[in-house]
Amino acid sequence: MTQRGQQLLDEINLAFPVDRRHILERLATAARRSGLRIALVGGLPREALRCLGGQRPRENLYDELRDIDVVVEGDAIHFARELYRNLPGELVVNEAFGTATLVTEGIAIDLTSSRRESYSAPGQLPEVDTGGVRLEEDLLRRDFSVNAVAVELSPDQGVLLDPLGGEADLRARQVRILHSASFHDDPTRLFRALRYSIRLNAELEPASMAAFHRAIEEDMLDTLSPERVRYELECICREERWHEIWAVMDLAQILPGLHDALGGISSWWTLEQGSSLDIVLRNQREVLEGTELEPWLVRLAWATLSMRDTWFEAAMNRIGIFPRHIRSMQTARHLLISVPERLSSDMPPSGIVDLLEHFPRESVALAMLIHMPVDDRGVSTRRAMLNYLLDYSLVRPELSGHELIRLGIPAGPAVGECHRRLRALRLDGHIVSEEDERNVVMRMVNLGESSADQATTDGD
Ligand code: ATP
Repeated sequence: MTQRGQQLLDEINLAFPVDRRHILERLATAARRSGLRIALVGGLPREALRCLGGQRPRENLYDELRDIDVVVEGDAIHFARELYRNLPGELVVNEAFGTATLVTEGIAIDLTSSRRESYSAPGQLPEVDTGGVRLEEDLLRRDFSVNAVAVELSPDQGVLLDPLGGEADLRARQVRILHSASFHDDPTRLFRALRYSIRLNAELEPASMAAFHRAIEEDMLDTLSPERVRYELECICREERWHEIWAVMDLAQILPGLHDALGGISSWWTLEQGSSLDIVLRNQREVLEGTELEPWLVRLAWATLSMRDTWFEAAMNRIGIFPRHIRSMQTARHLLISVPERLSSDMPPSGIVDLLEHFPRESVALAMLIHMPVDDRGVSTRRAMLNYLLDYSLVRPELSGHELIRLGIPAGPAVGECHRRLRALRLDGHIVSEEDERNVVMRMVNLGESSADQATTDGD
């Protein structure tokens, strides 16, 4: 045990809700039983060190934790099975990678055998060797010093492993790679470097900065597959200060390095606008229910809104966005160009439905969220879309097609037309009940009218 390590473990315990603290105990117990040396690593010790250094509050640490990373000196899968006996949850084992994840009480515990990694080519996944690798050595293969800090849980509980000066770098607010070829080995670290710099209010340490620029100049981004780029952009778009990271990615030539058309996009928006998107996303989150869109993708669609249509699909393909999501974004972009001029919340609801119902609901939701009103008219357009999503699009006549035919509407297209008319009358508040609907239909039939509007007008 070291004093600092014990302080760190105490801090971690305090940051855990009382009813979750047993997770740490069970980890230590399972390690003792299996005779393995284990340590907490990555985000949890990093964030707890920041708490100790007064750089962040302790209160939201656990809630913001995406996972608990545990490094096991030896067989992590064997250890995971031992842990699972005393910590129920869902265990997923990946034999090929020597890793396992146990999801328990809503949190994922990622268990990894300590390893040595080597890269045969830039941008490719590393070759991994897990034979006889000490915890201390495992820390050397990590991305940044601030992520290469571990605290032992067993057998020497409370020993701090910080061979690369991660805590000092956290204090100095600097993100530092562990060797000069780091960005070449794994260019996803270019994204991670900016993500942590913004998150930690840190700078890239000078030699790391030089290596960063060298990797960009030498086109290392080209070695990354679209899938790997997407994963990094997704992580970025999930960050609280995501829009700042996008702006820095643009300045640092990452965006144009991925695709020419992505260069300069951040000059079209301001950080304030990014924050107002977040407010809309928070307040109107329900419009995403039942769609495939997640908030991170909405942020990405917004950040790329200024791109020319000509290049949009190619650029999205480069960054690994799924084709169905590209289509939703394209439709939302098209909607925002073609419809707003004609759309306002003062229109009768039936008019709003007429304009929007030809678009998939998902795209209307996306368009509503990413639309940036610049004046009252824009606000009114957004309100019209919101009303459509939350209210108007759900309005249906009560009478079914069969009932319309029974009342005398000829089978065929007239049924659909009658239904549409009834819906319009309901939307605009001219009729409110099934009985009203029957009356309108009877009048239509008696008058031999094809138009329900006509039937109500005549009857009024
Ligand atoms: P957060 O989840 O808050 O972003 P984290 O540090 O837990 O932070 P993960 O992506 O879960 O982030 O990674 C866990 C740890 O794995 C990191 O702290 C780092 O030590 C290591 N790691 C992740 N990605 C890489 C990478 N590309 N190269 C080297 N090490 C990495």
